Amino acid sequence: MFKKDSESPIDLSALNSPAEPKLVAPALSVDQIAYMNSAISEALKDLTSQLHAAQQANAFTPASLAEAFRLAELERRKPTEDEISKKKRQAREKAQMHAEAETNRANLQLVRDNCSHKYSNGSQAVAIIRNYHDRNPRGICLKCHEFFEPAHWMCGQRPRTPAVLTQ
Ligand SMILES: [Zn+2]
Repeated sequence: MFKKDSESPIDLSALNSPAEPKLVAPALSVDQIAYMNSAISEALKDLTSQLHAAQQANAFTPASLAEAFRLAELERRKPTEDEISKKKRQAREKAQMHAEAETNRANLQLVRDNCSHKYSNGSQAVAIIRNYHDRNPRGICLKCHEFFEPAHWMCGQRPRTPAVLTQ
């Protein structure tokens, strides 16, 4: 419910009385104006000199700017934690891959060294390959994939590389 104006807790009776006239500042004398001008100019000079000194202290030289830019660039290019862990993981996986390849190569060599190139029934496991363009036959063991080549001359692939006799 709305209250009537007479019951309002805010006293509005001051609005009925006329406002008091404002005091007008007396005019400044010539001496006062001169004093104020000199004080303002002194303060401005002091402030200007302080600003100049601060600017000299913080002045950028080309060398300091270059150093600041270099440091900022180093900071920007610094690898993050994710990048560091990613590089570590890649290096670990690469080392694992190399170790695995070396193990596979050693195992294959072991199998070839111990292969009799014969099946268990005594027949040869070496198949003859005759479709080489030099018409020389090759052999391949079907158990260990050992490749047998006849003695032949290999021409050098690059200029001035001597031909070699491959046994
Ligand atoms: Zn074999």
